[in-house]
Amino acid sequence: MALILGLESSCDDSAAALVTSDRRIVAQRVIGQNQAHAPFGGVVPEIAARAHVEVLPGLVREVLDEAGIGPGDVDAIAATAGPGLIGGVMVGLLTAKALALATARPLIAVNHLEGHALSPRLVDPDLGFPYLLLLASGGHCQLLEVRGVGDYRRLATTIDDAAGEAFDKAAKLLGLPYPGGPAIELLAREGDPRAVPLPRPLVGSGEPHFSFAGLKSAVQRAVVAGEHRPADIAASFQQAVVDCFVDRTRLALRRTDAPALVVAGGVAANASVRSALQQLAAAEGRAFSVPPGWLCTDNAAMIAWAGAERFAAGLVDGLDAPARARWPLDEGAEAVRGAGVKA
Ligand code: AMP
Ligand code: MG
Repeated sequence: MALILGLESSCDDSAAALVTSDRRIVAQRVIGQNQAHAPFGGVVPEIAARAHVEVLPGLVREVLDEAGIGPGDVDAIAATAGPGLIGGVMVGLLTAKALALATARPLIAVNHLEGHALSPRLVDPDLGFPYLLLLASGGHCQLLEVRGVGDYRRLATTIDDAAGEAFDKAAKLLGLPYPGGPAIELLAREGDPRAVPLPRPLVGSGEPHFSFAGLKSAVQRAVVAGEHRPADIAASFQQAVVDCFVDRTRLALRRTDAPALVVAGGVAANASVRSALQQLAAAEGRAFSVPPGWLCTDNAAMIAWAGAERFAAGLVDGLDAPARARWPLDEGAEAVRGAGVKA
């Protein structure tokens, strides 16, 4: 049994956790920065990095104290090394390097996306490889075949905005607070998902990619037109995203033999998203797994767990491990036309 300390600081959550290789979350802490970024309607990288500097060491102290151990009692130290806002990533990675250096324990440089990708296995011991993962977060929207630790095949990605980004932008247009996802979900409960005709970008297209920029523009037009209740716009927007997820994920499922569908990332905290994809998995004869909401949004337990999986596979890193703003899980995946690539 190995005990792993994990650190997360790639966006606007500072987090530390202690997780064992037999799936016990010994202690964990998360401090979000929503209030610091709320006036700007999005995450300000410089403010985020400074906040990580202030709170991350204290969180490490707290999880160690709660477990009644010292830093030298862990078997390895894992930290998000990318992708993310580079200032924050450097704070967490350098904190982990300092601890690894002081304790002579190995460093594990974790890809944040791998943290999300493996997180369902922390709470679902029956979930084996391979599985199809819909990763929908503030910065990403991808369909990945997860074949093993460090072994990913990307089937689809977004050609413009990430899914969580779409929720955040739609919320801003509706005058809702940041982060937009939870606010839209709450307001949508009082609305009619069929009230506002909104597009389903790329639905029915031959590759399972995503696009949300056109949907955002349509929400903007609906808000400006002023003919619909905000709750109806929120509900119709959420339904449009769900419909895109279901159509695109169905296509991807039919391109893989993977026996299970898994959803992770912040948008997977959405109840409508979860239930629609659960129904899709059942209809396609696949098992379904989704982590609890707290494990979907950014946290350090998933980083410690990815560290535990990599440690068990003998994958440790040197103290020269780089911090990476960009770090695709499937390095071999082709760039998609529209995703920042000129045709
Ligand atoms: P992450 O990047 O994984 O930390 O996820 C953060 C993103 O998830 C933000 O864009 C949030 O708006 C979005 N999000 C969080 N909770 C929900 C929710 N209940 N419904 C939709 N999106 C959500
Ligand atoms: Mg994330």
